[in-house]
Amino acid sequence: MTKRLNINEIDENTEEWICKVQVVDKGHPRTTREGNNKYQLMILQDEKETQMQVIMHGTDVGHYANEFVPFQTYLLLGAFVSESIKTYGIPLHQFRWTIDKGTIVEPIDKVIPPEPPLLPPTLLKTTSFDSFDYQAIGFEFGTSQNIFTNSSSSYDQMEYPSIREGIINFRSDEIKPVLNTYTTKSTAATGSLLFVPFEEHIVPIVNIQQQSLGQVFHMQALLLISNETQKFRVLVCSDYKQVFPRIWTQRKFYCTTCRRPKKLTPRCQFQVTIKDDTGSTTAMISNKIGEELLSLTVAEIHDIRCIKKQLLSLLSVQHKLLGKTFTIQIKKLFAKNKDASSAKLVIMSITEIYITSNLPLPINAPTTPESSKRKLKQIMIKED
Ligand SMILES: [Zn+2]
Repeated sequence: MTKRLNINEIDENTEEWICKVQVVDKGHPRTTREGNNKYQLMILQDEKETQMQVIMHGTDVGHYANEFVPFQTYLLLGAFVSESIKTYGIPLHQFRWTIDKGTIVEPIDKVIPPEPPLLPPTLLKTTSFDSFDYQAIGFEFGTSQNIFTNSSSSYDQMEYPSIREGIINFRSDEIKPVLNTYTTKSTAATGSLLFVPFEEHIVPIVNIQQQSLGQVFHMQALLLISNETQKFRVLVCSDYKQVFPRIWTQRKFYCTTCRRPKKLTPRCQFQVTIKDDTGSTTAMISNKIGEELLSLTVAEIHDIRCIKKQLLSLLSVQHKLLGKTFTIQIKKLFAKNKDASSAKLVIMSITEIYITSNLPLPINAPTTPESSKRKLKQIMIKED
């Protein structure tokens, strides 16, 4: 359940909080010193008059141009909390918040059930925005100039740490046993087999960094799926499909994109590890392709993960993936992440590769003369 908290009760590990704040100051939109990304600073204050510095980046600035009116009250859900940068003086607060399109921002007059706005501030602090100028180095923009300059308009892909850590933990030891153990399959012809010369377009994982943002490419790799820290579903606005990655409880809310009350609805979304001979990385799967892979509907996932608070039973999925190589169609998107090397990869489709080999076949199994031909069967295609 979502907790109603004040600024001082919230840190970067607090899950699902709502904070009632009023805008004390709102700076003009600015451009970073490098001149290639917009940002805007604000100071918000809670009912205890604790103040918090808030930053918005890129397209989020325009998205909220009509919100955060000075001295108006808002309910905030799911702002991104990070430690303040202390290199350039004493920050306003130990933490600062980043507000993006994945934050729910409800003007107090749109809140259901209705509630009163905060009283006008009693101690008006004059805090100059020049005292905490924006420092790009090593923070959200990443350190790779390539990523930074290529990403001027797609700044809304927020990585969230719990997922990232989960994948890293998982990576350490569970990968090796499934390498290069192709399964022998009957290749009895069915109409759905595709013969596609994928090989010439296959990108090894080690070369992902060279792919440009927005590019779609194919990989041939193993798929691994981990359980521990993943919720396997995110909430989206029922209309616009805006994702709210830091909110877990379904509720009605005022959507700043649709500009009217909307409902948060669940969508299947999770991360998988993809691995080939050159390395491994993580990618995101969502919607129908994810539900198909898990053999679960998003409603079932929601019930297990969010109502019963259990882990998904992934054994059968892991068994299904074990030792199989897939042709994976991937789109590379910009990730808002400290680690510039980890752009966000989104899986568009997964195609299982059936490889017939000269391994001994079970008795009575049909023998296949074209023993080395690769046959591809489209098993999952992303619906969009
Ligand atoms: Zn909406």
